[in-house]
Amino acid sequence: MKSFQDIVEFHGHACPGLALGYRVSLFALKNLGKRAEDEELVAIVENNSCAVDAVQVMTGCTFGKGNLIFKDYGKQVYTFIKRPSGDALRVSVDWKSPEETQKEKAMWKRYMKGDQSSKVLKVVHDRKSRKIKSVLEAKDKELFKIDRLKMKLPEEAHIYPSIRCETCGEKVMEPRARVKEGKVVCIPCFNKK
Ligand SMILES: [Zn+2]
Ligand SMILES: [Zn+2]
Repeated sequence: MKSFQDIVEFHGHACPGLALGYRVSLFALKNLGKRAEDEELVAIVENNSCAVDAVQVMTGCTFGKGNLIFKDYGKQVYTFIKRPSGDALRVSVDWKSPEETQKEKAMWKRYMKGDQSSKVLKVVHDRKSRKIKSVLEAKDKELFKIDRLKMKLPEEAHIYPSIRCETCGEKVMEPRARVKEGKVVCIPCFNKK
């Protein structure tokens, strides 16, 4: 099992969003079984925040393998589906971040206005660490609401032949090709005026 530190290395920094993604993934793995080596687990994520990097590293549901499906809903909701059973877990994050102190509020305002003084940075940094710690230590039921469901499985990733764009000469996956003035072209060439 990957650690939170492994994920921080992949993502580039530690942040509360990443911690949430880590907790969501841990919960999913605990309930649906092991990390996806191939495509035995599918994740549907409803945002493209920091948390999704944690989901990819932890669960093995990745953009490149095609078993990470992105729905641009701006919601902290993550659905994991197991192949071939279709057993699924819908995890909706419902977390209340720790109350901000007056001082933190004031320093955050200064930070947002571009104040990078060490005094401001220290408070902002400590606040972030406190949030991360709170996510990592919270109980499951303080972090999310869970639904168990049966779902239809999305189709497995297909491999398509490549053809050459008649305008730029670069290769393009066949189902993405377009026809423009009788020529088979790629999407960028199709869109060019
Ligand atoms: Zn982040
Ligand atoms: Zn082209």
